[in-house]
Amino acid sequence: MQDSRPLGIFGGTFDPVHLGHLRLAEEAVESLDLAGIRWIPAGQPKHRAAPHVDATHRLRMVELAVADNPRFAVDAAEVESDASYTVPTLERLRVEFGEGRSLVLLLGADAYAGLAGWHRWQEIFSLAHIAVTHRPGYAIDAATLPPALAEEHVRRFRPDGAAFTSSAAGCIGSFAMTPLAISATDIRERLQAGRSVRYLLPRPVIDYIQTHRLYLRQTPA
Ligand code: ATP
Repeated sequence: MQDSRPLGIFGGTFDPVHLGHLRLAEEAVESLDLAGIRWIPAGQPKHRAAPHVDATHRLRMVELAVADNPRFAVDAAEVESDASYTVPTLERLRVEFGEGRSLVLLLGADAYAGLAGWHRWQEIFSLAHIAVTHRPGYAIDAATLPPALAEEHVRRFRPDGAAFTSSAAGCIGSFAMTPLAISATDIRERLQAGRSVRYLLPRPVIDYIQTHRLYLRQTPA
């Protein structure tokens, strides 16, 4: 029988993927009772600086990172089309999963705070729910959000996760995760300086970075 529980959607540059991303996804599955998570590495994000390594490398690292988790699947569509707009991606997933399926876009607090800068961001609410989690150094607080997002936040926020199962889209919620101040920027800096990144990202991803000699220079690939 098909699992009808909400499906998590987790996009990012994953430049590179690290244990902060993996714990976010793992704890989202558990606390929001998700059927699983679609990881969607971005092609060439328009709303932030160009990633430091090619999209095919970032995709491969995500595939290696999630390979041993049956609840995680990787979606290569943005990498293959070299695009990374969230709304078209959600429209595609809506067609794939049907109107009634609950889709939950997972965001860290920093990404959520920047949501109002995303292309067609208000259309996200007709396509998916949003679940935000804390990230050390960033608050989830309507008072600190840009006014248009704060308005949506106050209107759509539901303190309990049941909202994600009773409708297909349109609510905002939050979930707790183990605070991990791991960041891709910090990992890239360590790699460039020849310092250890052990225990910050999965071993197969570290091996991949070393084999392909990634992140040795600051300039975009
Ligand atoms: P950087 O560290 O350079 O800012 P990043 O890891 O935040 O990079 P992305 O790969 O695009 O960049 O992040 C994907 C998603 O994961 C975003 O929603 C981001 O908020 C979230 N995220 C990343 N790291 C953490 C963390 N340590 N704790 C919570 N959320 C995180």
